[in-house]
Amino acid sequence: MASSMSGKAGLVTGAGSGIGQAAAVALARARASVMVSDIDETAGTETVAKIEEEGGTAAFLRCDVSDEAQVEALVDATVSAFGKLDFAFNNAGTNGVFAPIGDMDSAVWDRVMKVSLYSVFYCLKHEVRAMEENGGGSIVNTASGAGLIGIAYNAPYTAAKFGVVGMTRNVAMDYAPKGIRVNALAPGSTATPMMMNAFEQNPGQEFRNSILAGIPMGVLAEPEDQADAVVWLCSDQARMVTGVTLPVDGGYLAGK
Ligand code: NAD
Repeated sequence: MASSMSGKAGLVTGAGSGIGQAAAVALARARASVMVSDIDETAGTETVAKIEEEGGTAAFLRCDVSDEAQVEALVDATVSAFGKLDFAFNNAGTNGVFAPIGDMDSAVWDRVMKVSLYSVFYCLKHEVRAMEENGGGSIVNTASGAGLIGIAYNAPYTAAKFGVVGMTRNVAMDYAPKGIRVNALAPGSTATPMMMNAFEQNPGQEFRNSILAGIPMGVLAEPEDQADAVVWLCSDQARMVTGVTLPVDGGYLAGK
């Protein structure tokens, strides 16, 4: 895997933390040039520093993925910096606030849709344009197990992630003839700040224990487990893989 991305260039959203940061680092270790992007400038520049410490190539651009103009600028900046867009990991998302639908604040619903669903539309729309100019490419969207089954008290997140899975399949079909592959990653529970936030919203051991009990392997995934799958999906080793949603979840979905 060490040089599987040699000579390739692309972008990662939400790359200041968790899965996005691990993926940006892993892509750079695989010799790709990476445009690191995040709404949090401090976190994003820390990711760039981490990559550069290891001798990798990266640059940072702040981007709020819920704003189409910023996403368009991110794609253009990546092409300007590295000459092309070979891959994109559309990863930024938010899980909002856990509540039954009867108590769901409409503003939370709107925010989750903008950050976790509309963002993927904006990314895909502008990335395929750049990739068509380049003769092809590989896109990975971060979905979730919650894009394939329901999870309790988080309807906007589930709706957004089902949307990501549907869009992935649709766009994969539309752009396969143009050499653009589009896949989704479905992380299971992964030890990141977002997961810790879910634990904080559901205090006590019951929620945590129920999560772990549902994972046949009995442990949370690490961000690096997700990152390895992303590198593979972005690489030419996955050249015949498109339209899939790949669970990386220790077997969580296997028995559902
Ligand atoms: P995280 O909180 O560690 O990182 C998310 C990053 O996205 C942060 O750096 C944050 O600043 C950035 N971000 C948030 N809103 C943004 C915006 N509007 N524009 C640009 N950047 C923004 O979270 P994570 O766990 O690494 O989650 C990454 C993705 O994985 C998300 O799409 C999430 O839904 C998905 N996911 C996570 C898990 C899990 O268990 N951690 C499981 C399934 C899916």
